[in-house]
Amino acid sequence: MSDAQAWQDRYAGALMNTFGPPKLTLERGKGAHVWDTDGNEYVDLLGGIAVNSLGHAHPALVSAVTGQFETLGHISNFFASEPQIRLAEKLLELLSPSTGPVEGRVFFANSGAEANEAAFKLTRRTGRTHVVAAAGGFHGRTMGALALTSKEAYRTPFEPLPGDVTFVPYGDADALAAAVTDETAAVLLEPMQGEAGVVVPPAGYLAAAREIATRHGALLWLDEVQTGIGRTGHWFAHETSGVTPDLVTVAKGLAGGFPIGACIALGEAGALLQPGNHGTTFGGNPVACAAALAVIDTIESDDLLAHVTELGRALRAGLAADPRVTEVRGEGLLIGLDLSAEASADVTAAALRHGFIINNPTPQRIRLAPPLVLTREDADAFIAAWPAILDDAMGEAP
Ligand SMILES: *Cc1c(COP(=O)(O)O)cnc(C)c1O
Repeated sequence: MSDAQAWQDRYAGALMNTFGPPKLTLERGKGAHVWDTDGNEYVDLLGGIAVNSLGHAHPALVSAVTGQFETLGHISNFFASEPQIRLAEKLLELLSPSTGPVEGRVFFANSGAEANEAAFKLTRRTGRTHVVAAAGGFHGRTMGALALTSKEAYRTPFEPLPGDVTFVPYGDADALAAAVTDETAAVLLEPMQGEAGVVVPPAGYLAAAREIATRHGALLWLDEVQTGIGRTGHWFAHETSGVTPDLVTVAKGLAGGFPIGACIALGEAGALLQPGNHGTTFGGNPVACAAALAVIDTIESDDLLAHVTELGRALRAGLAADPRVTEVRGEGLLIGLDLSAEASADVTAAALRHGFIINNPTPQRIRLAPPLVLTREDADAFIAAWPAILDDAMGEAP
């Protein structure tokens, strides 16, 4: 029996079956490459689902985490730490539009769902309870985050969920305008829907959402958990829309693989949560914050935003050249591909046999969210292998 099979059996005997059987048992990683327990090498084009911004074992991240853990590892929120304060200031700076700095306040958590829980609770402090969110959106698996997520298969087994949430079709400004009232606390949108397979709204949608929310005194809350911190070639995916939101939640790529989440409130929304309203033991942990500062520093010093933009363009063009790809979407290194048949699970399995880790969020869609440090050589190798991967999974091109 291979090591891989033995680990699979032990996994099945000891771990809850919430995710189905794992595809591989991985042992180590370097850059955008990982190795399994049998020594096979893969190019990681999923990055732990848009998390490993700097790839695996990046020296800047390793040294930030080990250095901080040696200095001060955990302290609780009875105390402050420099990394926590510096990261909050940095996030606010990155969110400041070209028109100048915005006032804001940050709450640190440990995951995307927790960042969204904090934001959800914050919206209740407006004195209103109604939230309008988008069909196809994904905001996490805790009870509150699930209440904001439309997918029936995720919700139904856990109802009743916290209420007063209305779902509208994503990208439809008229539907949004019809759903938001003077009783609405917040409008919650992803700037691009990640789990739906990288769905990009029409131009002007976020600006329309801003206008609608403002007109009704509601908060505009953008979930940038998947799209934020350089993933799209911008610090935040909403940046190019010219919109200033009231709430932004981030997590996945922020600390490059160290668990973290942040709920960032701009303007007056920053004062809505008051002492005693919310809390966390681990949130704002100095090691997690030092990791995030290292990620942000490296994106800046290595000019990764430009790299992400350029490499994303090359990947989208190269992969869309195959006729079995019917649509390509996304920006930077968040890429969604539609296939001509419901074969995305087979394509993902075939890619793995060819040495590439990719993801199939829906039956007909492929998602790529590789490390921001992916090299041109690795991207070219995947583009070169792509037709053969599709041949394996879908039969030869027509
Ligand atoms: C992944 C994701 C979440 C949930 O994050 P977790 O860290 O898994 O809790 C929330 N919102 C979006 C947009 C996501 O992609």
